[in-house]
Amino acid sequence: MSEGYDRKKNAWLKYDESQKNAVIALNEGYKDFISKCKTERECALEVIRIAEEKGFVDINKAESLKPGDKVYYNNMDKAVALFVIGTRPLEEGMKLLGAHIDSPRIDLKQVPLYEDTEMALLDTHYYGGIKKYQWVTIPLAIHGVVVKKDGTKLNIVIGEDDSDPVVGITDLLVHLSAKQMEKNAAKVIEGEDLNVLIGSEPLAGEEKEAVKANILKLIKDKYDFEEEDFLSAELEVVPAGKARDFGLDRSMVMGYGQDDRVCAYTSLMALFEVEKPDRTTCCLVVDKEEIGSAGATGMRSRFFENVIGEMFEKMGGYSGLKVRRALANSHMLSSDVSAGYDPNYPEVNERKNCAYLGKGLVFNKFTGSRGKSGSNDANPEYIAKLRAAMEKHEVTFQTSELGKVDVGGGGTIAHFMAEYNMQVIDSGVSVLNMHAPWEITSKADIYETFRGYVAFLCEL
Ligand code: MN
Ligand code: MN
Repeated sequence: MSEGYDRKKNAWLKYDESQKNAVIALNEGYKDFISKCKTERECALEVIRIAEEKGFVDINKAESLKPGDKVYYNNMDKAVALFVIGTRPLEEGMKLLGAHIDSPRIDLKQVPLYEDTEMALLDTHYYGGIKKYQWVTIPLAIHGVVVKKDGTKLNIVIGEDDSDPVVGITDLLVHLSAKQMEKNAAKVIEGEDLNVLIGSEPLAGEEKEAVKANILKLIKDKYDFEEEDFLSAELEVVPAGKARDFGLDRSMVMGYGQDDRVCAYTSLMALFEVEKPDRTTCCLVVDKEEIGSAGATGMRSRFFENVIGEMFEKMGGYSGLKVRRALANSHMLSSDVSAGYDPNYPEVNERKNCAYLGKGLVFNKFTGSRGKSGSNDANPEYIAKLRAAMEKHEVTFQTSELGKVDVGGGGTIAHFMAEYNMQVIDSGVSVLNMHAPWEITSKADIYETFRGYVAFLCEL
């Protein structure tokens, strides 16, 4: 083992002053990213903006591709694939870092607006797995787009600027909650009751539903859309406010949507670090993971395969076989978050095989539930290569599985990519409060994850 490397060691202990500054600098960029980007769209467009600053161009504008070229493919503003073309032929395989940029949240229904006892509310349908009781009585913001019939797209962000109002979901006062408190946590707040309160002032001179009328007038004046335009809107209700340092020692980050934007951001930053790769490198950020990776912008979509086909075309000749070979010869880190060990809930983990905050990048050989069902169980040959790469770059890493056997389970995008016959393993940052409005990560883990991704891109 190389000097200074200890699998059990807390990553913080190995940093000198300049490394600590690097940890802080990376995390400042990260906090800024997740504070600004709270929807998959906002993430995709920000990823493209940052990539263009780094010299990446839209693949549709590249006539041909040669080693060293940097291109991206934008899939409907909700998923992005970025590539740095390697010196070796593409059919020899790529090195992929893939993460998802959708996060659990509360979506507006298509016909959301209604008035009840002179209060205006928005009806919602939650997205992804949430403990609903965590989403009430906190300041919420509305992010998303409204697309009008003529195609005009309005970008909406309400509740993030200090001068903005916020919205939210009310909960019953404790004085009248005797019955409610007897319910179990799954039922204490029901999905259909996640109604967002947005107004209470009636429009003067209006007889019927005057509060709703006032909201509609305000929407028209300020954002220039009508009630009917909600039909073609994608508005997401998310926690309002910025990501912040967490802990008196500022060693952690508290922010919304860290599952899985923490892996998306570190993957992107790692991609920028390797200028002239041998095999083509790729950072892939996708949508819809939290609801099963379906849809055109999710990982089950053919878009990634299509892009590889397009790349061969621009490299002098498409062939279906070459596309298959490129995919099958690839290595991927399916980058997604892990459950961090929580000292308040030790009973859900088996202590030798769980992820701890501060102990670095987490590798999950498998996920799944009930006997690894539905999991991509990574090959030991592949894991051995990764161990060697991590050691060579002195990356602090740990291995984990999602809780004790049969306690629960979950999935990632790993198995969709494994269907191409490529080597895939789950890896990422461990998180406390996962899927809650405000999730917690360790800054050292974020830094080690970034360094681990760089090591992967350099060594595999
Ligand atoms: Mn995830
Ligand atoms: Mn998740």
